[in-house]
Amino acid sequence: MTGQSDLKLERNDLLMNANFIAGKWQPAVSGNRHNVMNPANGMIFAEVPDSDAQDAAAAVNAASDAFFSWRKTTNRERSKLLKTWHALILANTEDLARLMSMEQGKPLAEARAEVAYGASYVEWFAEEAVRAYGDILPPLMPGRRQMVVKEPVGVVAAITPWNFPLAMIARKIAPALAAGCTVIAKPAEDTPLTALALVRLAEEAGFPSGTLNIICASRQNAEPTVAIWLHDPRVRKITFTGSTPVGKYLARESADTLKKLSLELGGNAPFIVFEDADLDAAVDGLMRGKFRNSGQTCVSPNRVYVHEAIHDDFAGRLAARVRALTVGPASNPTAEIGPMINERAIDKINRHVKDALSKGAVVLTGGNTVRDHIADGPFYYSPTILTNSSEEMALFCEETFGPVVPLFTFSNEDEVIQKANQTPFGLAAYFYTQNAARICRVSSQLEAGVIGINEGVVASEAAPFGGIKESGYGREGSKYGLDDYMQLKYLCEGELA
Ligand code: ADP
Repeated sequence: MTGQSDLKLERNDLLMNANFIAGKWQPAVSGNRHNVMNPANGMIFAEVPDSDAQDAAAAVNAASDAFFSWRKTTNRERSKLLKTWHALILANTEDLARLMSMEQGKPLAEARAEVAYGASYVEWFAEEAVRAYGDILPPLMPGRRQMVVKEPVGVVAAITPWNFPLAMIARKIAPALAAGCTVIAKPAEDTPLTALALVRLAEEAGFPSGTLNIICASRQNAEPTVAIWLHDPRVRKITFTGSTPVGKYLARESADTLKKLSLELGGNAPFIVFEDADLDAAVDGLMRGKFRNSGQTCVSPNRVYVHEAIHDDFAGRLAARVRALTVGPASNPTAEIGPMINERAIDKINRHVKDALSKGAVVLTGGNTVRDHIADGPFYYSPTILTNSSEEMALFCEETFGPVVPLFTFSNEDEVIQKANQTPFGLAAYFYTQNAARICRVSSQLEAGVIGINEGVVASEAAPFGGIKESGYGREGSKYGLDDYMQLKYLCEGELA
């Protein structure tokens, strides 16, 4: 069965079903293909190449050849191409959003917002490209001139997840190309179509052949395909967003050729509501942060700590908002919560909730799959609040990645900081308080790369995004983001006196 008829695009050429290597759209060498499913109804609606080592090797050859001339282009030339690409992305927002909703399931309004968000990184790095300044050092002896210049690292392999099919790949490709690197990319097996459309628009923008290459692979073939890149010494950097176990594997496997790495891995974000918080603002921040993309974000508040004095009041206000959320497919314009990406995702949510209930948690609202209520698909989960949550539960230790809010209580600041940090992860953390001194104390003690203070949605192209501890290293966006794709070279001239 196919759901193809549901997908209406203004430009049919944005529905690509091939790899893009050395400026040519082509099938996998093996001719194998894999299916793309619409998670709203479980139907297959497209096919893309199921690549393997041969395609991965061809992509490295193309990117490596292209690097010699691409690195010599001026920063201004690269900036102009990125600006053209940015304009094309925005001009095709509606088609990109439809493709994204179809393969990922997010409501159309969220998909449109993601196009704007992803495009903002392309614009940002078009602007940063021309500001990749080096240094001139004051000489410490006569007759010397010492300079530091920034150079592109070389071929960059980008491996991306399915939760933000456009933004995650845009914020890797854009700084890489801005820096003068060439790119080989592999999007997530669940969501290749948005990435292919993005590359189609880059081709239209006029990037020279070989500068940007993309290949698709099934889950089964992801490992053997990417392994070629991990072991090829010409690939100088791996940039990855995804799970911590896969990130660690990539770091281990690429160690033989000592590649530069940017790893944006899993999180387990605490969200703390102190007794002096503005409760309506805290509820609002939690709703926006938690339910964006149906809870499938790595910065999603995963453990919500509410001071015992305000717990019941907060829980009541939150429950009223959560019960009002509309669950449904992207084709329903009022839908706020879409389907989960696949069976694996819904199984994990079910496992977490069952485990929590068996250990004393209480359902305030939700707590079940909603397949009985929505005839067209098996991957919906009702927005859920659990009270009485505790540290023994799986949802305390692992990212749930779904629309589930576990509420924990606490009685003092030191205790909650200790609990918030009691995780190997350190991506995002949030807290709400109106006490200025507390803002200072808590923000300096929370172990995370990104902190929301009286704010539930923090990502921006102007800010450095990334984690500490086992949430990875490297930063995306901001003035620091370009440096991840560049290396320093020190030039020392003598005999000048
Ligand atoms: P998730 O569990 O959310 O799918 P993953 O970390 O498994 O997160 O996947 C993120 C990206 O990493 C996807 O593009 C996926 O295909 C890729 N990936 C998963 N496993 C491997 C692997 N062993 N080698 C290379 N890439 C992988």
